[in-house]
Amino acid sequence: MIIAIDGPVGSGKSTIAKLVAQKLGFTYIDTGAMYRAVALKIIKTKTPLKVSEIVKMMENTKIDLVQTEEGLKVYLDGEDVTEEIRTEDVAKLASQIARYGEIRKRLVQFQRKLGERAGNVVIEGRDTGTVIFPNAELKIYLTASPEERARRRYEQLKEKGFNVPFEHLVEKIRERDKMDMERKESPLKPAEDSVIIDTTDKTIDEVVEIIINLAKERMKKS
Ligand code: C5P
Repeated sequence: MIIAIDGPVGSGKSTIAKLVAQKLGFTYIDTGAMYRAVALKIIKTKTPLKVSEIVKMMENTKIDLVQTEEGLKVYLDGEDVTEEIRTEDVAKLASQIARYGEIRKRLVQFQRKLGERAGNVVIEGRDTGTVIFPNAELKIYLTASPEERARRRYEQLKEKGFNVPFEHLVEKIRERDKMDMERKESPLKPAEDSVIIDTTDKTIDEVVEIIINLAKERMKKS
């Protein structure tokens, strides 16, 4: 069974997808981590921001997602970059390069292969239900207001000891939403047959429970 979870930044996707996968014993695939890993490599190797140069660089790049007891680890050319890919700069560059069809095509191939190999998966991103697995048994689209999404990010950063102005975070979120929703290639939007869940006033556990119940219903039917 494939559960595809899409939605904008801060909608709770990653946290929720991880928990759903854990509870069902499914493999968790974070597709955004792959765009971030490519972005990080561009920064590290100073690759020019030209599609042909980036594609060439990708041909000599190895990205691995490894499920461990501590959660999903992301490796870039053998190096653990799980933490390093989480900065705002990497996120912004990931969104910029995610506009290009040639780059997406390569990552989508890789994501499909990973999903098919794993069998039972929860895959999370922007195009997992629309492009990667249009035949997924369950498609979820998570949303929340920009202010609520910024508030969540603010709390996360505060916990890590960073004090970033709230208004700045709202602006960053709007900026990334715009890039992800208005691009020509696989723009972020709900798949026609997805279940849309607004998480603004819901707890993580509530959303996880809704998804698990939907998954169980669909499993019974098939
Ligand atoms: O989900 P995350 O914030 O890690 O993703 C980083 C960026 O990668 C997104 O803003 C989006 O532009 C891009 N992305 C994408 N398609 C996906 C996953 C991520 O375009 N399936």
